[in-house]
Amino acid sequence: MEWYYILAIVAAIIGSIGVAIIVLIKYMSKHYWHTSPTSKLIENVYAIKDKYVNCFIYQKDSTTIMIDLATSVKAVKKGLDQLNMNPETISRIFLTHSDMDHVGAIPLFPKSEIYLGIGAKIKNPDRHKFLNDNDIIEIGSIKVQAISTPGHRMGHTVYLIDEKYLFTGDTIVIVDQIVKSFLKLISSNYEEQLESIKKIAKLQNIEGLFTAHGGYTTNFEEAIKEWK
Ligand SMILES: [Zn+2]
Repeated sequence: MEWYYILAIVAAIIGSIGVAIIVLIKYMSKHYWHTSPTSKLIENVYAIKDKYVNCFIYQKDSTTIMIDLATSVKAVKKGLDQLNMNPETISRIFLTHSDMDHVGAIPLFPKSEIYLGIGAKIKNPDRHKFLNDNDIIEIGSIKVQAISTPGHRMGHTVYLIDEKYLFTGDTIVIVDQIVKSFLKLISSNYEEQLESIKKIAKLQNIEGLFTAHGGYTTNFEEAIKEWK
């Protein structure tokens, strides 16, 4: 075969891969990565946006806690500044899992107690407190219940706060107000992940459902009905 035929074939293959990647990124942005801007979302709940991920703040009476910590100190510091909040007032932090886009700002909170689900792998485990399924932590008037939801990662845990707000990390995304599973492609155990979503679907009286990469909804029953 002439060299220019080979070159043409190689160029076509590289071109096709490039186009496929662009299409995939566009698809992902449309269907998965839609985050809330840094703002107050509903009563007691604030989001910080760090590119493609949200972390959350829950504030009630004079107590402030966070759920997940995005990708970096810089991003979370900037978000807290924007919301006129001081990192030193965050007494407890609840991590859904330890992927880099959920733990990035840990160094910003040297004095806060940090919790995550038992089984989750993290650097400096001595610094953290590990929670079992259904463990309850009370901080002032705030009640946090850990619900074990393995699948995306071992030890992945979602948090039910004050029996009505559910923070789900990377278990699900919300697409057009409907709950979908978070990407199978990057799940450690997809079968477990599906079981975890069905477990979440059994919860009742949820008034807010928050995901790390796929937005939030205040209409839990409608969003999750396909998983009942
Ligand atoms: Zn994530």
